[in-house]
Amino acid sequence: MRIPESKIEEIRTAASIVDVISGYVQLRKRGKNFTGLCPFHSEKTPSFTVSEEKQIFHCFGCHTGGNVFKFLMEYRKISFIESVQELAEQLGIQIEYDQSEFTEQQPEQEILYDINTEAAKYYLNNLLNDDEGEVARKYLQERNVKLHTMRAFGLGYSLRGWENFINFARGKGIDIDKCIQLGLIGKTADGRMHDKLSGRLIFPIFSPNGRVVAFAGRVLDPDDKGAKYINSPESLIYVKGRILYGLSFAKDEIRRLDKAILVEGYMDLISLYQNGIRNVVAVSGTALTDEQVQLLSRYTKNVVLLFDADTAGIKASMRSIEILLRKDFEVKIVSLPQGEDPDSFVNKFGKDDFEELVKKAENFLEYETRYYESQGKFNDPSEAAQAIRELVKPVALMNDELKRNLLIKDISKKFNLREKLLESELDKHIKQFKKFESTESRQLQKRKSEETAAIIPNAVSVASSAFYSLEQEILKILFEADKPSADLIFSHLHPEDFTVGLNRELFEILKEEFGNESIKDEFKSRDLISILKDEIQEAYVRELTFDKYSVSSSWEERFPSITSEKILLKRTKDTLQKFIFETIDKEIQSNSREIELTEDESNQLKFMKANNELEREKKRVREELNVKDNYSE
Ligand SMILES: [Zn+2]
Repeated sequence: MRIPESKIEEIRTAASIVDVISGYVQLRKRGKNFTGLCPFHSEKTPSFTVSEEKQIFHCFGCHTGGNVFKFLMEYRKISFIESVQELAEQLGIQIEYDQSEFTEQQPEQEILYDINTEAAKYYLNNLLNDDEGEVARKYLQERNVKLHTMRAFGLGYSLRGWENFINFARGKGIDIDKCIQLGLIGKTADGRMHDKLSGRLIFPIFSPNGRVVAFAGRVLDPDDKGAKYINSPESLIYVKGRILYGLSFAKDEIRRLDKAILVEGYMDLISLYQNGIRNVVAVSGTALTDEQVQLLSRYTKNVVLLFDADTAGIKASMRSIEILLRKDFEVKIVSLPQGEDPDSFVNKFGKDDFEELVKKAENFLEYETRYYESQGKFNDPSEAAQAIRELVKPVALMNDELKRNLLIKDISKKFNLREKLLESELDKHIKQFKKFESTESRQLQKRKSEETAAIIPNAVSVASSAFYSLEQEILKILFEADKPSADLIFSHLHPEDFTVGLNRELFEILKEEFGNESIKDEFKSRDLISILKDEIQEAYVRELTFDKYSVSSSWEERFPSITSEKILLKRTKDTLQKFIFETIDKEIQSNSREIELTEDESNQLKFMKANNELEREKKRVREELNVKDNYSE
């Protein structure tokens, strides 16, 4: 089933995004835009903004945004196609479908999300309604999972056999190759296809916005020789270390309480949730990663670790503590009674006892000390020294010097040791970390965090506040520009002039787009935003164009009698000159430094000449752009 692109466009342009969103969010007009309280994160002052002119919405708090379809998809948790259908119905527009395969022209990610959504519905239906689903229902009932909880988490069951899901997918016209990519269907060595999760209990894994990005399948039959869990492979929509299980359910509560409880497994989280403890996320299947911690830091900096009391759990706790401390988290650790996990504990003792336990959580120093004590490390002097060294190590990871000092005092008191001794131990570790971080691994980490940053829209705001610059002003103008302004910019600037990678990429895209003969004079910024296929670029541009730094309106206020075309041209010239001057001045400065440093006179002369030429260049630019020109005509 496929909706022709032209039809989708017709529906989009027929709808008013302000009207549609007003049906769900109370909007007030502010300047050119409408604002309200964001439905995607909890807030007290409105940062959710809708532009009638651009037909997009954007939240400056959580960076969700996009066009009218995107709003419906996010708000109603429906697929792209469903959002198109729903809007068409509201507007009374008839959709005629292409009879060809499952949509081709949708962005690849959307197709994958849609397939996962269909699969999740299919598995849920098996669990709730199929006779064979009884085995999974029984398993969940034994673990005290209620029906409404199964529904809330979209749990499911994959029927035994080779081709149940395959047949379902074929019947729906779903692309089988894409199901293989998503790990729903497997292929044997001789090329035969089979349901990959067959006979398993299914946990859909959600993105922070609540879309299904992957599945985990738990084995139910004790005779099954396969792995206890099968997880979806990584794909365009799923990067393992970047997802925290349950975050979409927990994020509001985490924000409200400013605290997250971190558990290991799906069932731990689900049981706690069912018992009314809702600020919980699970690492599920991996050791806690830097990226997961980064993700969590968008909601809170306080974490309570709640891992199993066995050796593996303790090891995982210690590792997680390090990662969290490094990112300036406050970490506390709950120790469960021997033999219990969060799931069993809360089912046995209930919510109140659980909360009592969390109240008694220890800081990492207490926790680790107690652990070494229980291992008898403090009975032998040489082992004790080693243990104390281990205790100092995580302290060295903290960036906050004051906190570090307090903890060192703590340790010295506890073990009756001279503070100086511990401090020198601490210094050693800090030096070691610094050395480690300044070598290549730091480069690698930087690159990695840049990549992560690119994925997490948070970074967009960082980029735009920290580097708000002429580069961005140029891009902003281009997204509002008419042909004359754009031509002026492209005749003066080149992609290489941009220092920030994202800005450079966007400039290149725009240059190509404007170079297109078919571009007409009435080309609008909303059309330009829709050419961006990359999520990061799109979010970044939304932020830029949403007049957070409302230059254009202040121009209009200052020169009320001038036409907007003229204002735009004036603004273009002004910004362009600043941009070019800034680049030239940098070069002049660097030449001047060379002149000071070099002893060789011929070299000095060379740089002086270069600087003269650069000054002449500035003069040329000033004349060309004629920026002095006021609105006298
Ligand atoms: Zn928001």
